[in-house]
Amino acid sequence: MNNFQNGGSAAIVDRCRRLFDDLEFSEVREWKAAEKGRKVIGYMPVYVPREIIHAAGMLPVGILGGGDQLEVIQGDAYYQSYICRIPRSTIELGLTGKLDVLDGMLFPSICDVIRNLSGMWQLMFEDKYVRYFDVPQNYARDIGGSYYVNELKQLLSDLEKLSGKQISPDDLWKSIEVYNENRRAIQDLYHYRAKRPWKTPSPDVYLVIRAGMVLPVEEHTQLIRDYISAVEKEEQVMRDNCRVVVSGVFCEQPPLNLIRSIEMAGCYIVDDDFMLVTRWLLEDVPT
Ligand code: SF4
Repeated sequence: MNNFQNGGSAAIVDRCRRLFDDLEFSEVREWKAAEKGRKVIGYMPVYVPREIIHAAGMLPVGILGGGDQLEVIQGDAYYQSYICRIPRSTIELGLTGKLDVLDGMLFPSICDVIRNLSGMWQLMFEDKYVRYFDVPQNYARDIGGSYYVNELKQLLSDLEKLSGKQISPDDLWKSIEVYNENRRAIQDLYHYRAKRPWKTPSPDVYLVIRAGMVLPVEEHTQLIRDYISAVEKEEQVMRDNCRVVVSGVFCEQPPLNLIRSIEMAGCYIVDDDFMLVTRWLLEDVPT
């Protein structure tokens, strides 16, 4: 029987699969509608300081394009055909109204394509908050360091205006701790899979981590903990598979069936760099 049909971890993975398939972002819409004044901020991979969005009482939502489920028609008019799919399918999501739940969008400094996308977004969605979130190229504390502090302060002040809520240092400390806890849970799952990959199929692990792109962080941390304790109780056959590390995906996500195919071909993925935002910081942020 395949893992999606079992009880336990299968029910968790099933829920994550529904979130993955839902290009209408229904759960995000429900979260927003549950309380008047709630706001949602989208962000492109690879890394944005989600703690600041959380501290402002908003929901950060990772936008990873439309994957292989979306036909790109309008998006093709904005980029050359040889450009990767994620910006074109993100435009498609935007122009077809699937991202209208977002009150703003952050475009981190990944590459020229994403920088240009931030400019297009400003022209296409004039009523939304859009920010190109740059990172320093210089690592000296008094140059790059102070530049980055200013970027963070600017983002914080923008989000205060948008949310109508002043962000206190205490709000920030709490949000940092909540994300530290989430990163710890993700690390625990990665360590668990590295030791017992036959118990944690990589397509399932991918979906569990990916759920963190749309769920509130506290709920996602609990979901990961529940998944680990469910798989611990389940028996799975250990195969003589080759252990492999999949690297280099960066921001464009692989199709789920590709991850499945790698494992069906006789491999266990024991580490990967999918969804870098969740593992970009390697250690806890001190609180
Ligand atoms: S895959 Fe990501 S980093 Fe690479 S060109 Fe496309 S948007 Fe930029």
